[in-house]
Amino acid sequence: MGRIPYPLLQTWKSIIQTTPSPFLLSLPRLELHLHLEGTLTPTLRFTLARRNNIPLTSARLHKTFTSVEELQEAYQLLEPASIKGPGVSAFFEAYYGGMECLREERDFYELGMEYFARASRMGVRYCEVMFDPQAHTRRGIPVPVLMAGLRRAELDAEEKLDVKREKCKCTPIHNVHPARRSPLIRPPALRVHRPTLPPHDRRHRARQQRVPAPAVAQPDAHVHLKQILTEPLRLHRVDHGLDAAVSGDLVELMRGMGEGFGMTICPWAYVRHCTEDELFGGIRRLWDEGVKISFSSDSPAYVQGNWVVENLALLKMKGGFSDEELVQCQRNAVEMCWASEEIKKELLEEIEKFWEEWKRGQVGA
Ligand SMILES: [Zn+2]
Repeated sequence: MGRIPYPLLQTWKSIIQTTPSPFLLSLPRLELHLHLEGTLTPTLRFTLARRNNIPLTSARLHKTFTSVEELQEAYQLLEPASIKGPGVSAFFEAYYGGMECLREERDFYELGMEYFARASRMGVRYCEVMFDPQAHTRRGIPVPVLMAGLRRAELDAEEKLDVKREKCKCTPIHNVHPARRSPLIRPPALRVHRPTLPPHDRRHRARQQRVPAPAVAQPDAHVHLKQILTEPLRLHRVDHGLDAAVSGDLVELMRGMGEGFGMTICPWAYVRHCTEDELFGGIRRLWDEGVKISFSSDSPAYVQGNWVVENLALLKMKGGFSDEELVQCQRNAVEMCWASEEIKKELLEEIEKFWEEWKRGQVGA
C-alpha cells in the first residue's frame, strides 16, 4: 500500500468540513501540541508583510506573491512532491519564510490574539502553545519584543475573550532547526522529530528522495526514541513518536514510563508521509497497547487549515475512534498536561459532565 493519494486527502477534508460531527463540535477539548508560528495563516501573513514592507517571495517557486489568493495557493502543502516540487522543503520554506513578516511587538500580539480567538471559537478548554524564540532572535528580533507582544495578547485574551491565561499560555521551546535532525526539547517533555525532515544540503535531499521514506526513517526513529525513553530524564511526553507503533520494545518502554506519561500525535501532520496503515493502524496499535495518547494539530496553517477539531474528526472517520475513545483522549490530555491540580480537576469535571449529558441526549437539546 502506497502513501495516501492527495485527492483522497482532499475528499477527507471536504467530508469533515461539510458534515461536521455534532459530538466533536460540543466535546470540550485540550490541545497540547501546537506551534504558535504554525498558526500563521496566509491572510495574516499577507497583512503583516504589507504593513512591515516585507516582500512575499518563494525562492523555490521563483515567485513574488502580490495577493492573498496567490499566497494561499503556495499553502497547498499536502500536495505531493510531483505537484509542488520537493515536498518537505516546501513546508519548511513556508513555515520559516512565514515568520519573516513578524517584526514588531504588535505582530506577535496579533498572531497570539488571532489564535486565542480561534481557540475560543473552537471550544478549546486548555492549550499549551509553544513558540520558538530562536527562530526570531536569529532574524534579529529581540526576545523582549516578541515576549511583550505575546504577553499583551495573553492579557487581552483573558480580558476580551475570556480565555484564561492559566488555560491557554505561550511556552518557549528550545528548538533546534529541524534540518539538523535533533530532538526538540521543551521541559519537561521531549520532542522527537521524524528523521525524514529535510537536510540543509540539496544533494543530500535529492539522495534522500530516491530512498523510500520508511526505509530510512524507521531505524533512525527507533534508535532515537529508544535513547530518549531510556535517558534518566523526568520525561513526561513524547511528540512525533508514531514510529514507535511498529516496535514492541518501544511500546513496552512507553508503557513502563508511569503515570502521567503520554504521547501527542497530530494526524494531519502525518498524512503526506504515511500509508493509511502506518498512520491509522499505527495509532490504533499504540492505543490498544495502552499508550496514553492526546491528539493535537501541530502547525495547522501549514497542513491546509486542519485545526484540532479536524484532527479529531479524521480519527473518528478514518481511525475508527468511537465517541467514548475521543472523550478518553481528552482525559488523557488532562493527565498529561502541565496545568495545576485545580485546573485539571475543573477540566475533568467539565469533560465528565459533557459525556454524561451527551449519553443522555441532553447536549445541544
Ligand atoms: Zn510539532
